[in-house]
Amino acid sequence: MTEKKEKIPRQSMPEQTPEARKSNFEEVPYGYSPETAMLEASRCIQCKKPRCVAGCPVGIDIPGFIKAIEDGDFASSIRILKESNALPAVCGRVCPQEDQCEVLCVIAVKDEPVAIGRLERFAADWEMEQEKKELPEVAPPTGKRVAVVGAGPAGLTVAGDLIVKGHEVTIYEALHKPGGVLVYGIPEFRLPNQIVEYEIKNLEKLGVRIETNVVIGKTFTVEELMTEFGYDTVFLGVGAGLPWFMGIPGENLNGVYSANEYLTRSNLMSAYQFPKYDTPVKKVPKVATIGGGNVAMDSARTALRMGAESIVVYRRSRNEMPARIEEIHHAEEEGIEFHFLTNPTRILGNEEGSVTGMECIRMELGEPDDSGRRRPVPVKGSEFILDVDAVIVSVGTGANPLLTNATPGLELNKWGYVVVDEETGATSIPGVYAGGDIVRGAATVILAMGDGRKASQSMHFYMTGEEPEPVSEE
Ligand SMILES: Cc1cc2nc3c(=O)[nH]c(=O)nc-3n(C[C@H](O)[C@H](O)[C@H](O)COP(=O)(O)OP(=O)(O)OC[C@H]3O[C@@H](n4cnc5c(N)ncnc54)[C@H](O)[C@@H]3O)c2cc1C
Ligand code: SF4
Repeated sequence: MTEKKEKIPRQSMPEQTPEARKSNFEEVPYGYSPETAMLEASRCIQCKKPRCVAGCPVGIDIPGFIKAIEDGDFASSIRILKESNALPAVCGRVCPQEDQCEVLCVIAVKDEPVAIGRLERFAADWEMEQEKKELPEVAPPTGKRVAVVGAGPAGLTVAGDLIVKGHEVTIYEALHKPGGVLVYGIPEFRLPNQIVEYEIKNLEKLGVRIETNVVIGKTFTVEELMTEFGYDTVFLGVGAGLPWFMGIPGENLNGVYSANEYLTRSNLMSAYQFPKYDTPVKKVPKVATIGGGNVAMDSARTALRMGAESIVVYRRSRNEMPARIEEIHHAEEEGIEFHFLTNPTRILGNEEGSVTGMECIRMELGEPDDSGRRRPVPVKGSEFILDVDAVIVSVGTGANPLLTNATPGLELNKWGYVVVDEETGATSIPGVYAGGDIVRGAATVILAMGDGRKASQSMHFYMTGEEPEPVSEE
């Protein structure tokens, strides 16, 4: 039986050609047809002890949802997925499956792993296409009130879990649109905004209130939420959106952006549709992105779609790049040029204060550092100039101190992230919980959602004294 199934090759997803997609912002892969999904699902041998599940941070019943697809029972498939994952259409697209579930799939010993992520996306997309949508049942009102700060994946998960438990839930979001990094960071060609909007509409249909343009720590404080506003619990899911710069000369020139600013302008403010939308990004012939992570790939691929020649400058080699393999592959296919073992030393400008170039130095790899990756060491006297007209700095982000500094009694670690009880997500302030990037530092969507689920169970217990049942969306 195993041998027979292994003979079916892993099914690829049709996608836009590199030539077509490099000048549009539409999603790159189109997704599976029902027939292809069922064929791919038939590659799963339904392990009795599924290793893939151990690799999933939220423990999805992977063989269960795949079996339902194989049987053509797509409604059951999405139901199983949603028992553990509130945003499967998002996770099917952006989770690093190659490092989580798929890397452990037993089929990968002799063949390519079952395409778990593509199947998850298929089931979620199928659900969105159905005219009649199933919404989870909401429990009778408990009279308890919950404030969620930040409408990213962590906050949205908490809101979804607690509204169905009968609590009143309000999300406060600093930006004018909810979704967090899913709408302001990850570009539409990887995650169309309409997918996030669909999930948020469903939350609103269940009764979640969303107040945008409210910055907690400035407009109101956490203390005010708990006293004047009378919330019983508060969840902090404010992410880690404070961009880091390199501290090299020239970073204040016109045409130097943090990746966050560049992506926010193009994704959230639709700068790529300027002048239809009124936020511009200066169009220039050549853009360099500094960094090797997912955010750098998103920035470089966005710059390309804005009509620039787009290059990536990374101080280590391709092997050490933290970005997902698929993203690197897509960037290369689209013609983005990579300068590995290269580190910027200063950004050059003209009399008007605009970027004209970037001085870099060649690097070589030395001994491994604390991260286990080989440390890049500058090669003396190897400086050279790259002619570029704009620079996107994508070297990481940190905790934004706005809310945390305005919240006395909230324990932080030395990097400014919120300290929580690992089991419950509880902070040092009774009734205040936290999760996602503001606790872990920049991490992943699924980890933020896992934190949200853990915290929502503890918050429910805190408010009602009821031992949490596994939260289900059925
Ligand atoms: C460009 C980019 C690409 C990425 N690609 C991937 C990927 O492919 N796969 C993956 O798994 N992960 C990816 N990540 C990481 C992932 O998006 C994050 O780990 C995840 O979004 C964290 O979720 P969160 O809910 O903790 O915070 P966020 O998504 O950051 O949401 C926090 C929200 O809180 C709001 N907020 C902040 N301060 C306040 C305040 N004081 N008051 C009110 N609201 C506030 C913010 O505006 C934001 O909407 C990427 C990140 C970026 C930036
Ligand atoms: S490890 Fe692979 S084959 Fe086994 S249940 Fe998981 S997806 Fe299916």
